[in-house]
Amino acid sequence: MQTQILSANKADTAATAAQIIKDGGLVAIPTETVYGLGADGLNEAAVAKIFAVKGRPQDNPLILHVAGAEEIEKFCHDIPASAYALADAFWPGPLTMVLPARDTVPKCTTAGLPTVAVRCPDCDVTRQIIRLAGVPIAAPSANISGKPSTTTAQHVLHDHDGKIELIVDGGPCRVGVESTIVDLTEERPRLLRPGGITPEQLIAVLGDLVVDKAVTAQIDKDAVVKAPGMKYKHYAPQSEVIIVAGSREKAAAYIHRHFQPGDRVLCFEEELPLYTNCNPLSYGKESDASTLSAGLFAALRKLDDPGISKVYARCPEGGGVAYAVQNRLKKAAGFRIINGEDEL
Ligand code: AMP
Ligand code: MG
Repeated sequence: MQTQILSANKADTAATAAQIIKDGGLVAIPTETVYGLGADGLNEAAVAKIFAVKGRPQDNPLILHVAGAEEIEKFCHDIPASAYALADAFWPGPLTMVLPARDTVPKCTTAGLPTVAVRCPDCDVTRQIIRLAGVPIAAPSANISGKPSTTTAQHVLHDHDGKIELIVDGGPCRVGVESTIVDLTEERPRLLRPGGITPEQLIAVLGDLVVDKAVTAQIDKDAVVKAPGMKYKHYAPQSEVIIVAGSREKAAAYIHRHFQPGDRVLCFEEELPLYTNCNPLSYGKESDASTLSAGLFAALRKLDDPGISKVYARCPEGGGVAYAVQNRLKKAAGFRIINGEDEL
């Protein structure tokens, strides 16, 4: 199969993409978070292709992308008022809600769960494709399972050239990490994955939020969890990633003591001068966490190289979008974290 790339700005791109979706094919779609690998979310055979192409475990459900909040009643039932309040505040945007699923949603999309994840992306061409196709688009991140997510059309081409019909090129993704996921099916709203909509923003609307343990700790692969995706190895380059925490100076001292030829340093732009002899790669500014979220996956992809043995990584602290960056980087590191302050 020849994989076509069409610019999101071309007049007939959305119609071409929508036709492929209607015909049961695969289209990589741009969104503000990461590129998604999309198919008709109501077509079992099309959804099965997503799992096959990505190498995604069958028990890891997909997010249904809709063109607006008015569509969720077709796919969800017993929708709480909080869902509409969140949609009002943050849709279109990087927020996914988990709600009770109607029977219209096939089991392969929800991985057999009684719930379904829904989101309205902040990307004009993708909402237009959904509208023209007349179906919700099921889409996980467009990377090969386990690898860093795709934030450019070139990343998608690298992972899936010849395996999907079309990539819609909308340029680099603005947010750069996957959507925030909040589960609204229990008594209290639960954060399953941090993202571009911050815990602080959710609490401002919901007045309450429980943080699931999968957000902050490694989850055993046999564990029963609310968001099945969170227990798998994720976002990881081939080399071992080690987060070095602590002050700028102590972390640099630790890294200089342990750095070997063939290692790399993943740091903040402000820290580049500290690592001139350590082949450093910056992924954004510590002073602006949105640049870190936008740059993280492209950097992890550059470091996905068999010639690299260890990556010493610097991770931002604090809340807001930095919280999502911490979550992704800790997962990429398999929660290997060294405190530069403690080590001699
Ligand atoms: P990805 O699009 O690759 O970021 O994967 C989608 C994420 O949404 C995974 O972490 C899934 O586990 C999660 N997800 C999808 N549907 C549900 C659901 N019904 N309940 C909980 N988590 C879900
Ligand atoms: Mg993913």
